[in-house]
Amino acid sequence: MAGEFDLIERIKARIASRDDVALGIGDDAALLDLPQGRQLVVTADTLNAGVHFPHETRPFDIGWKALAVNLSDLAAMGAQPAWCTLSLSLPDNDAAWLDGFLDGFLELASSHGIALVGGDTTRGPLSIAVTAMGWVESGKALRRDGAQVDDDVYVTGTLGDAAAALHSLFAGAVMDRVLRERLDRPMPRVAAGLRLIGLAHACLDVSDGLLQDLGHICERSKVAAHIDVDALPASRSLRRYAPALRRDWQAAGGDDYELCFTAPPTQREAIARIAAETQVPMTRIGKIVAGQGVKAFDAGGVEWLPPRAGYDHFR
Ligand code: ADP
Ligand code: MG
Repeated sequence: MAGEFDLIERIKARIASRDDVALGIGDDAALLDLPQGRQLVVTADTLNAGVHFPHETRPFDIGWKALAVNLSDLAAMGAQPAWCTLSLSLPDNDAAWLDGFLDGFLELASSHGIALVGGDTTRGPLSIAVTAMGWVESGKALRRDGAQVDDDVYVTGTLGDAAAALHSLFAGAVMDRVLRERLDRPMPRVAAGLRLIGLAHACLDVSDGLLQDLGHICERSKVAAHIDVDALPASRSLRRYAPALRRDWQAAGGDDYELCFTAPPTQREAIARIAAETQVPMTRIGKIVAGQGVKAFDAGGVEWLPPRAGYDHFR
């Protein structure tokens, strides 16, 4: 039977370090060297079994998603990811589960050159809390409060796939593999976020539904947004799975982990170039206007109301 320290050793044995980690796993805390002229960007997200992922999710995918949702927050700030911590609450000391979890977590970590530098391991209901850290050039981060009237509103990738996968799961329908992958393995838009620095006026990642999340940009920037709900980018799988419901999921689903950002019309060409170079589609979906709140319209110009605003843990 593996004990707490065996589990920690199992983790330690597999991690890659970085030159800027002066002290990693094994002491009371980690020591990290932050480059001159940079600001530390810190974010934390918790995944609870049954809330943030279906109970039967594979350990690999839980590991991947636990880091991905945090990297998505760093991406939304335009940050260069560097370090992370991992706090695990595990129902039992299942070494095989941990190995599968680490396969997913560390595959994503290594593809972004991010080092695991510490954490905590306790017994309890399955819950994973990750803190991700990165850096931006001082004063250059992409924030929520910079949107300006007449900005274009963009979103990366496609929306609604993960919400469709969840719907399909609850309905007991045959799961489309592409949709399921979008639920289990979100791709944090790190490269796109880095390239949007100096270009985008405001940015966030879409995790709780586009309209609700864009509402945060509007609130913080003291502006309003008009969205064309028929312009929202949809995958082929989504169009095939439920054409009648796709707008609901795209506008107000959740778990998309795409970036939503605003930029002045003078940047349209630059943004098209970045989309081509990063191979991340960037679709213009609306405008920033004076006022407050987010309104959606269909292709015919009629206001479109979502069935619900977005995800809220306490509602
Ligand atoms: P302390 O009791 O001082 O908090 P721990 O015994 O909890 O220390 O942890 C020992 C070392 O192992 C610390 O460096 C801690 O950051 C690291 N650690 C513990 N759990 C994890 C984990 N799940 N992932 C990464 N590092 C971990
Ligand atoms: Mg501890």
